[in-house]
Amino acid sequence: MTEAPESAPAADSPWTAPTSLSPSRVESFLSCPLAFRFSSIEKLPDLPSVAATRGSLVHRALELLFVELAPNRTPDALDRSVERAITEYRTDPDFTLLALDDKQTAVFDHECRQLAANYLTMEDPKAIRDIGLELRLEAPVGKLTLRGIIDRLELDADGELIVTDYKTGRAPSPNWERKSLSGLNFYAFLCESIFGRRPAAIRLMYLKSGETITATPSAQSTKFLITRTSAVYKAVVAACERNDFRPRQSALCNYCSYQQWCPEFGGNPSLAATEAPVVLGQAALA
Ligand code: SF4
Repeated sequence: MTEAPESAPAADSPWTAPTSLSPSRVESFLSCPLAFRFSSIEKLPDLPSVAATRGSLVHRALELLFVELAPNRTPDALDRSVERAITEYRTDPDFTLLALDDKQTAVFDHECRQLAANYLTMEDPKAIRDIGLELRLEAPVGKLTLRGIIDRLELDADGELIVTDYKTGRAPSPNWERKSLSGLNFYAFLCESIFGRRPAAIRLMYLKSGETITATPSAQSTKFLITRTSAVYKAVVAACERNDFRPRQSALCNYCSYQQWCPEFGGNPSLAATEAPVVLGQAALA
């Protein structure tokens, strides 16, 4: 990690801290403050990735499956949902900007179908008592608003709330489980704030490997979530005030749309605002 090249007195800082945070934004800031500035504060365009678009498509297919009444959630219904989602994404910029050729598109479609098929090996969708799909929730924590989208909210046999999140990437190692559950603790907090009830369980379903990680939220996990998120927000505000967003190199750099404006790669961050819309726009059209 390099020292920030743009340290400046607070009065000179051009940045205004956002008033809301989502789980992905919290993790984005922790992963790399400079990439967070580019995407969440400067709101520069970002190129879609195959992994992210594949995940969005499979989420859409499962949402379509759960729109069906429980007895109708058959394997055939899932197949139809996947094909409909594939058709919908054919004209979506998240897919068209990937510029896949026919062979790559066939692989992409196959992987989407495979992830959806794996889902059916993990649970019986006919048995799920869902009460909400793709739920957009928000709740205040001091001056900050926490926002999140819950893939699925359901009731268990005892009428308790269960939060389920589908994952299309790899399951984390045990060391990383706590981090991956922090996003779901976020959702548990939102449920508790809005519905007045803490979910009995939060579940991550890893469709690639067929693994499910389940955790039981508690007053302690909610307190930890609020403490952690408040600390991250304080760091975001401080970074804005000091104009101090430091790059943090990691494996994520390989997928970063802003590498050419990153000082870790010899770039100048102050040029990103004018150059990124042109360069990334051209890359999207190439
Ligand atoms: S290339 Fe890496 S260090 Fe630079 S902004 Fe992107 S994620 Fe951060």
